Amino acid sequence: MTVKISLCPYNGRLFVAATRKDYERSHVRVFKEPDVLRCDQGGRFSAGAGKDGFWTYLIWASETHCLAHELSHVVLHVFERCGIDPREANGEPFCYMLSQLMLDVKTSLKKRKKNENRKMRKLPQSV
Ligand SMILES: [Zn+2]
Repeated sequence: MTVKISLCPYNGRLFVAATRKDYERSHVRVFKEPDVLRCDQGGRFSAGAGKDGFWTYLIWASETHCLAHELSHVVLHVFERCGIDPREANGEPFCYMLSQLMLDVKTSLKKRKKNENRKMRKLPQSV
């Protein structure tokens, strides 16, 4: 399972994979090349032009502190592309965007999981 998170008002798109396997599958689908993770990795950040040419981020994080780490990479990368100094205004734009993305990712993954569980319950039972 992978969710798409808005980077509005900045351009580009962000995909967040729910699991390590989802990340590896999505990486091939999005960037047309594999990125196989080591088992000691707790998260991962990838950025580049997707196969459709659209600027894309793909991350996976096993824990909340890893999510903060990987999303910080995303925000710093977005700011660099836009020429924004992340230290400006005591880092408020950086901190605001990081906390918004943390919230959006948690909400999207929870909602997606709930929908998938609902679908599973509707499947016909095999006898
Ligand atoms: Zn890192």
